[in-house]
This record gives sequence, C-alpha cells and structure tokens, in this order.
Amino acid sequence: MTTTQLQPMPSDWRRALAVVAHPDDLEYGCSAAIAAWTDEGREVAYVLATRGEAGIDTLAPEECGPLREREQRASAAVVGVSEVEFLDHRDGVVEYGTALRRDIAAAIRRHRPELVITLNHRDTWGGVAWNTPDHVAVGRATLDAAGDAGNRWIFRELVEQGLEPWDGVRWVAVAGSSTPTHAVDATAGMERAVRSLLEHRTYIEVLTDEDPETYVRGFLTQHAENTGKRFGGRPAVAFELFGR
Ligand SMILES: [Zn+2]
Repeated sequence: MTTTQLQPMPSDWRRALAVVAHPDDLEYGCSAAIAAWTDEGREVAYVLATRGEAGIDTLAPEECGPLREREQRASAAVVGVSEVEFLDHRDGVVEYGTALRRDIAAAIRRHRPELVITLNHRDTWGGVAWNTPDHVAVGRATLDAAGDAGNRWIFRELVEQGLEPWDGVRWVAVAGSSTPTHAVDATAGMERAVRSLLEHRTYIEVLTDEDPETYVRGFLTQHAENTGKRFGGRPAVAFELFGR
C-alpha cells in the first residue's frame, strides 16, 4: 500500500469534457470535483455512451432509458453542468473499437476541452474487484480518442461533417483508478455531490434498502475521506492523470 501524496490537479485550463459509459458514473465519486471546477467559472460538459437502460432489473429498457436520462440531466445541473449528450451505444454491450473512438473524438472536437475526464478503464477497481466491460471500453476509447480528435486523417468523415481537428487536449484524468496520481479538494463540492447522486433516485432505491440520503452521504464522504489521507487530510476526489 503506497502512501505517496496525491498532487493537486492542474488548474491552467478552461474547458473539460467528461466521457463515461452510464448515468451515475460521474456521481459515484467525481462530482464534488466538478462542482469545485464550475464554481471557478470553468465549463464542464458530459457525454454518456449509453442511457443506462439496462441498469434496473424491474424496468424494461424502453422505460428505463428516458428515466435515467432525465435523472442524469437533473444530476448534472446540481453541479453546474448544463450540457449532457448521449451517444446511444447500447448499455451493457458497449464495444471498444473504431465506432466508439470516432463518436468520442467527434464529441471532443465539438467541445474542444483541454481536460478530458473518464472512468477507470482497467480490468479491476484494484485487487479482485472486477470492473464492467462498458467502463473498460469507454475508458480506453476516451484515452485513445483524445489523440484521434487531433488527427485530421484518422476519421476523415468528421472533417466532412464540419468537425475540424482539436489537438488541444492536454490531459486525460481517470476517476476510480486504483493507482491515482492527483486529487481535487472535495470540501466545497461535497454537499452538491450528495444531492447530485441523489438525483439518480430510481436507481439508488433499487440498489439499497437504506434511506437514499444516508446511503449516498455515507458512500461519498467515506470515499473522499479515504482519498484525503493522501491529500493532506482534506477530503478529496482522486484521478490518475495522463498527460498528452
Ligand atoms: Zn457505470
């Protein structure tokens, strides 16, 4: 177990784009950082590969997709994010490949971020806690698409659609990594992070018998306090930062 201190995240950027597989992927741990960034006047937009339509056993995907989309938009609004896009890949069977890389590269060109955020792309969350195939596919494709977005010749159809290359991504920050390098102070954003995750109410009510607010607050504060042990004792959100 390493006790190396986490470094503060870079702050010389204006726009971030978060790309994840499912509704709630950002709210499970990341949104206190997003709230801190939007407080500072930075622009953050969300892109979700799916609508999370296969996430609730008792709800058919046709009903579940629109519901989770609404919950995700409400959840983003709580932390100051008004742009939420869905790429319409199928929940549970997202395939890593050129179609996914192209869709994410197109989103990066539309939003022109300096910082891209994604969720753990590795096989496990650390140890033997197996990750899900959608997270692995979307995380890897996002790391790759940060480069693809800057290359005119990889997806030529994007230029034909008017999406000029954007080579301005300077970092990809991976949330939920078991080998984080950087962190953001979660103190100011924590209350909104709790309310943001609570917006996924239908999902959470199925997930736990606990009172939703007790569950959400317990999960997020515990997580931030653990990370804080490596960030000067301040509750924090950790990222593994890949420079470009
Ligand atoms: Zn997920």
